[in-house]
Amino acid sequence: MGIFSNNQTAFPKVLRNAVVAFMLAATFAIGAYGVYSWQREKSEVRENLTILSSFLATASQSFFDSLGNGLVSLGQSLDKSSVQDNAESIRAELLSFQQRYPEVKAIVLFAPDGQMLLNTAVAAHETLPDFRTDPPYIEQLQLDFKSSQRYLIGAPEYGKALQRWRFALRHVVRGKDGTPRFLVQASIPLEHEGTFLHQLPAPEGSIIGLLRADGYQQARWPVAETAEIYGQASKGPAVRMIQANPGIKSGFFSGTSFWQGSRGERIGAFTRLSNVNMYAYVSVPADYVWQRWWLHNEPVLIVSLLFLGIVGFMAYRITLRERYHRGELIDQSRRDALTGLPNRAAVEDAIQHCIKSSRNTRGQFTVLFLDIDRFKDVNDSFGHTVGDQLLVEITKLIQSVLRGDDMLARLGGDEFLIVLPTSGLDMTLHVTQRLLQAFQKSLTVGEYTLRVTPSIGIALYPEHGEEVGALLQHADTAMYEAKREGRNAFTFYAEQMGARVRQRVQLDSELREAIRTGAFHMLYQPIVELNGGRIVGAEALVRWTKPSGELVLPDVFIGAAEESGLILQIGEWVLRDVCRQIKHWSADGLDVSIAVNISPRQFQDPELLTKIEAAMREFDLLPGLLELEITETAAMLNPESSMLIMGRLKALGIRMAIDDFGTGYSSLSYLKRIPADKIKIDKSFIDGLNIDADDNAIVHTILALARELEKITVAEGVESEDQFNTLRALNCNLAQGYLISRPIPPEAFKRFVLQHGGKAVISA
Ligand code: C2E
Ligand code: MG
Ligand code: MG
Repeated sequence: MGIFSNNQTAFPKVLRNAVVAFMLAATFAIGAYGVYSWQREKSEVRENLTILSSFLATASQSFFDSLGNGLVSLGQSLDKSSVQDNAESIRAELLSFQQRYPEVKAIVLFAPDGQMLLNTAVAAHETLPDFRTDPPYIEQLQLDFKSSQRYLIGAPEYGKALQRWRFALRHVVRGKDGTPRFLVQASIPLEHEGTFLHQLPAPEGSIIGLLRADGYQQARWPVAETAEIYGQASKGPAVRMIQANPGIKSGFFSGTSFWQGSRGERIGAFTRLSNVNMYAYVSVPADYVWQRWWLHNEPVLIVSLLFLGIVGFMAYRITLRERYHRGELIDQSRRDALTGLPNRAAVEDAIQHCIKSSRNTRGQFTVLFLDIDRFKDVNDSFGHTVGDQLLVEITKLIQSVLRGDDMLARLGGDEFLIVLPTSGLDMTLHVTQRLLQAFQKSLTVGEYTLRVTPSIGIALYPEHGEEVGALLQHADTAMYEAKREGRNAFTFYAEQMGARVRQRVQLDSELREAIRTGAFHMLYQPIVELNGGRIVGAEALVRWTKPSGELVLPDVFIGAAEESGLILQIGEWVLRDVCRQIKHWSADGLDVSIAVNISPRQFQDPELLTKIEAAMREFDLLPGLLELEITETAAMLNPESSMLIMGRLKALGIRMAIDDFGTGYSSLSYLKRIPADKIKIDKSFIDGLNIDADDNAIVHTILALARELEKITVAEGVESEDQFNTLRALNCNLAQGYLISRPIPPEAFKRFVLQHGGKAVISA
């Protein structure tokens, strides 16, 4: 498509590419920044978790140490009193110890045989539980009695007296000889308020705790289902790591553990306590990194995404606009600017589409080629503005006849194309009749009321062509046939029309050749006075001699030359030849007035006046000797402008005759004003004189009218003396016809004039 050259789209394209490049770069930058900040966030979180776990390790170690030391000194002070004899008497001292360590909820004293001596969680009057019948319990107690460590940290257990999960810190008090005297135990509950861990400033969602090297949880916060957590060894990622690397000091882990409350991917860090084989750990949900990352980058990201969004939207709008603009251009290029109808390219596509779908469905459709008769005359007479408006009115008129899916297109000028999809012969005939009917209405264009007729050529798919080109060409040919047959008609395409078109094309080229080689010559038909028979002049009539020697009459070629425009060149030649001839005769002392026929197209030629003036100047002609004939139909096409042109011609001294009078529809009011000198009564009426009553009446009327308007009357085609006499009796002025003479060559005409001198040619 030529009109969409790069130049037209270059700017939007560059702009769009720039925006796209910018967006890509910006997206990449945001992505890179995202990845970078994500990595940074992750390592920051790891670092924080490691710090927290080491802090927790230190805090736990010092808690154990402080409680352990407390138990040692408690044991020493208890050793001085008689623990076995009067255990209840020291309850107060134990309770005050408990107050110093709020995590401790019970202090218990055991005798070396396993008998519980005192339990602050059991009231004085109540019976103390006896674990001597509980073998695993008593075994552990026995082991602990033997231990030489300052204090021992027991695994979490369900405290029978305390009625909850707890772990115990134990210290064995020995005599001077080293024999164990009793064991003092502090119980630290592992639920809610008792857990010493919850004060750690860990982020929300964290799980913190102490993990024994054997995989059991020593303590955990938060804890919902105590039994689930403390009763069994953990199999989580931290435990796996610690057990795989015995003695490991610290580490970072990620993964899932099966405990409730810690489902889902978590990450965490652990640090070994300095003096106990335990690890302090802190874990957070894996998406904690994501949350923090989002928290830290949200504004930046939102602003840049918003920015990207705006730029993207702008790019989208630019693209959309460009596309719309392009679409509009395409649309414009497929539409006729004047009527808004589809143009040739668009209708050809539509026909192609019809062909495709009809081929599939074995259907049929019709293409109508519609041309407005003599539209050129409208343009020439009223100007192009009126012509254009008339085309718009015609468009509306045609559209009023068509159905919804019929397509109307303008091919250019006064040519329209109608596609009737899925129409057979009947439908086509129906539409065509309605079209012709519609054109009977007058159309109003501004101040003018005009009536035009169409000639319609019809081609049916598939009978008259199976390709777009063939259908269009055949519809066109049929249209010309309709014109040939008299306009305001329709014709279906027929095979032999092609031959006729070829003949027309041939005639055109032969005419061109004739103009080039000067194959025309003029004959002159004398015109005489009816009263007296004196020769007053002649009408110049053109003849064409073909290279074969065949003589061709104007009726055969004038019409074709008129349509092709060649008439202008022929007419110019005729004019100059006649002027030359008049000059020649003048020189010989023969002063006759010669009439030249001017065809409608010549009459509309804006240069007609100039051409006539030039010819007259060239041959130095007296204006009174040249006469112009224009047919009534041509003159009445646009009477106003005809009067103007004729007025100017008259001003040059040229006389005017209205030819073939009676065949057109002269408006009397115009006839009165028209500056013609002569009226030539058409041969068809003269033929009927004394035979046909109508013709008689018409001739009578024309003569009476002419007399009234003071015009000279000429009877054309007078063939009999009877006609001659009747016309003379009716006071017709002049006559022309075979009775007087056929059209004859110039020398013959000169002889004819000289022969008769001033005498009557005919004496009836
Ligand atoms: P027209 O202007 O009406 O010319 C009169 C026609 O009637 C001539 O036919 C002439 O030969 C014929 N005619 C004259 N008397 C008789 C008669 O008694 N009987 C019969 N049957 N015919 C007679 P032609 O020469 O064949 O010309 C035909 C038409 O062609 C002319 O009609 C005129 O309109 C046009 N024409 C002729 N020469 C020229 C020309 O040089 N320029 C233009 N534009 N048109 C021309
Ligand atoms: Mg004539
Ligand atoms: Mg005539």
